[in-house]
Amino acid sequence: MPESRLRPEVPFDKDGKHTGYVRLYHSVHESAYGFIPIPIVVIRNGEGPTALLMSGNHGDEYEGQVALCRLAQQLDAKDIKGRIIIFPMANFPAGMAGRRTSPIDGGNLNRLFPGDPDGTVTQQIAYFISSVLVPMLDVSVDLHSGGSSLMYVPSALARTPDEGEQRDRVLKYVKAFAAPVAYLSTASQGTGDDRTLSGLIVARGKVAIGTELGGSGTVTPVALRMAERGIRNVLAEMGILPASWRRPGEVPTRMLEIGGNEWFVYTPEPGVFEPLVELGDTVKAGQPAALIHFPETPWRPPVEAKFLRDGLVLCKRVPGRTQRGDCLFHLGTDIDA
Ligand SMILES: [Zn+2]
Repeated sequence: MPESRLRPEVPFDKDGKHTGYVRLYHSVHESAYGFIPIPIVVIRNGEGPTALLMSGNHGDEYEGQVALCRLAQQLDAKDIKGRIIIFPMANFPAGMAGRRTSPIDGGNLNRLFPGDPDGTVTQQIAYFISSVLVPMLDVSVDLHSGGSSLMYVPSALARTPDEGEQRDRVLKYVKAFAAPVAYLSTASQGTGDDRTLSGLIVARGKVAIGTELGGSGTVTPVALRMAERGIRNVLAEMGILPASWRRPGEVPTRMLEIGGNEWFVYTPEPGVFEPLVELGDTVKAGQPAALIHFPETPWRPPVEAKFLRDGLVLCKRVPGRTQRGDCLFHLGTDIDA
């Protein structure tokens, strides 16, 4: 496996709390010998498991970035046993721009794994994560939100193998997060799969969990609090933090699944999106989900989009203007897990 060209300023195997940047050398007109400074915090105290805590995989998802800033400031090596790697602005150029994708190469980090050591900036970041960080970790938590175009019921989530010991371990950590709602992706929607960080980590037999923490390009306080508690609970479950740091959820986690394309509602024609349900509503197959209006042809009646199955509305599109192929909603359905 070729070596990543990115250069971390911090050690991964020394005790203590180490802060600095992963340098991605990027020679451009304005800065011939310059580097892109991707922040990283490594906290280590002796032998033990390693947690990778990541956010900013998409640059316009902010709750995770705030949660990991606060954690990086609050935790010291003496608090832990083992190692925590905090990588809070993984796609740094996208994070600085407040965009899902990188303004440098248009790269969506979470569709570029395992990456390429000689590829574009975003491909090089993906390769650093998959070749340097992933081999070190036992459990990863990748904190996402809905971003600029979607809003979520704040949830923990995971992609799980169908059965076996790895599935049991993943479920243990999803439940440890203690979110009111958690969902499992049990079938491919074609949206990310093995090109995502969690897909890569699960394929390597390790535990990857994630979140969707609100969205709309803003910080939702209730989702932020949920994430902060969930991260500590996962670290306590791993034995990195003492059990006394653990906090139960207000309610038992409601476990849902997303089983495939039937769980999604897409825009049938370009127009203006009028939602007919709200986040958290329970809906039935065939129920109208949205009307698409055509203000450019105001005498034309709107077109209806319907739910294809029963479920709980987990995710909703934010912007009013929409194109054919945009996701308007997706559902989750209750499972025993
Ligand atoms: Zn995301």
